[in-house]
Amino acid sequence: MTAAAKLLKDVFGFDAFRPGQEEIVDAVRTGQNVLAIMPTGGGKSLCFQLPALMREGVTVVISPLIALMRDQVRALREAGVEAGALTSGNTEEETNAVWRALEDGTLKLLYIAPERLASGNAMGMLRRINVSMIAVDEAHCVSQWGHDFRPDYLRIGELRSALDVPLAAFTATADAETREEIIRRLFDGAAPQSFLHGFDRPNIHLAFAAKDGPRRQILEFAAARKGQSGIVYCGTRNKTESLAAALREAGHAACHYHGGMEAEDRRITERRFQQEDGLIVVATVAFGMGVDKPDIRWVAHADLPKSIEAYYQEIGRAGRDGAPAETLTLFGPDDIRLRRSQIDEGLAPPEMRAADHARLNALLGLAEALECRRKQLLAYFGESNVTCGNCDLCDTAPETFDGTVAVRKALSAILRTGEYFGSGHLIDILIGNATEKVRARGHEDLPTFGVGKEYDRRQWQAVFRQMMGHDLVRPDPERHGALRMTDPALPILRDEAKITLRRDTIRSAASRRPAVK
Ligand code: ADP
Ligand code: ZN
Repeated sequence: MTAAAKLLKDVFGFDAFRPGQEEIVDAVRTGQNVLAIMPTGGGKSLCFQLPALMREGVTVVISPLIALMRDQVRALREAGVEAGALTSGNTEEETNAVWRALEDGTLKLLYIAPERLASGNAMGMLRRINVSMIAVDEAHCVSQWGHDFRPDYLRIGELRSALDVPLAAFTATADAETREEIIRRLFDGAAPQSFLHGFDRPNIHLAFAAKDGPRRQILEFAAARKGQSGIVYCGTRNKTESLAAALREAGHAACHYHGGMEAEDRRITERRFQQEDGLIVVATVAFGMGVDKPDIRWVAHADLPKSIEAYYQEIGRAGRDGAPAETLTLFGPDDIRLRRSQIDEGLAPPEMRAADHARLNALLGLAEALECRRKQLLAYFGESNVTCGNCDLCDTAPETFDGTVAVRKALSAILRTGEYFGSGHLIDILIGNATEKVRARGHEDLPTFGVGKEYDRRQWQAVFRQMMGHDLVRPDPERHGALRMTDPALPILRDEAKITLRRDTIRSAASRRPAVK
């Protein structure tokens, strides 16, 4: 048994390393600079706690989450490890004990809040003691691309050069820009040894469906899983209440949950969900952080999540016990419009808005995928060599068609009407429907009028939705619902590029019977 494996058992009480942990522990233990990307719950903390015990001196742990730090310190002390924290929540007594242990040289892990790094006092202290390495939790907080940016994290790079010790950075955020920024700011651009592990959750079945009577779709999904614990995520508080009522009417045990409820009611719901079998919670994204239920059998999204990261987090609450779990994510053009306008109308600076659009695009790309969703999802997180066989597209390959001509017709209708109209009016033009609005604007005289009679309204709606999903058109934030062409659409308009669309979302009435399993 290796020394690390023995400590794993004796101190932490675990029989084996999780995938990826052992390599990271080895690299950190031997003093390399390390960037480790692991999903939430993957077991990051062990990857610096265990090496800290094997190295001379104190490991300085920087984390933005005070409650989490205090939790970890408590757990370490219970396991007999000398650990302490310097955070704003400390009593004077606690702080004094930490200082004493530092002076005696008995402390192994010192947790410190990033804002402490701004004080010369703390910096001076860190220089005097024998620091063996720095561990940075939630390292993405150093990135200005993200929403968790902490200006104090920018001091960590300085600290590393001042102390001249190895640094190990940990995060669950894996998009390429964030990764590059972490390397630039924490390691001064010198590439650390990087590890990326364990994003795959092979027991979770992935599926998306275009909205087509969303309430009925969710009810059918739940009906096929009656008696199992599940979560339905909704975009609005109102919807959580009405959908929970609809589920109860259909004979399920269901309740709603959102941030507008009294804290006490929320706690009751959390507790019920934890303890009861087969309860469905219909919730906004406010639900989930504190929920640690291993046997959630399914997660459904009644509305599109806001980004690929959010999607991953939310479906990831299912099947923590490793047994099969199922997911279904519904999406439609209204979701895409809503998510885009939330980004455009937010207060974020322009670069961050661009990053948010990119994260949304990654999710829409996944929704409109033509092949295995798991491969595409994990490719986003940087993992390749993925095997699946457990997503809707691996179950049944979608029927596709060359959509270039249809997309060109739609783009032409958009351009000839001055990028001023929404899909409803554009479809009227395409199918040659001379409505009052069409006649009032003289649009029945356009060359595009009636050129799209090969499809009906529903089919055109699917084409427009997929165009939005491929980011060929975007709603104009200045004009409600109006669609504008994006740059990536240009090659298609000029007939320099082709586009493949899915046909399966255009469903016939016969295929709309509930799926029998
Ligand atoms: P995160 O990656 O989100 O920081 P944690 O470090 O909090 O995750 O670990 C998540 C959970 O996994 C904790 O309850 C931890 O005790 C547990 N854990 C970590 N490593 C192992 C292991 N090798 N075997 C079993 N459980 C582990
Ligand atoms: Zn697949």
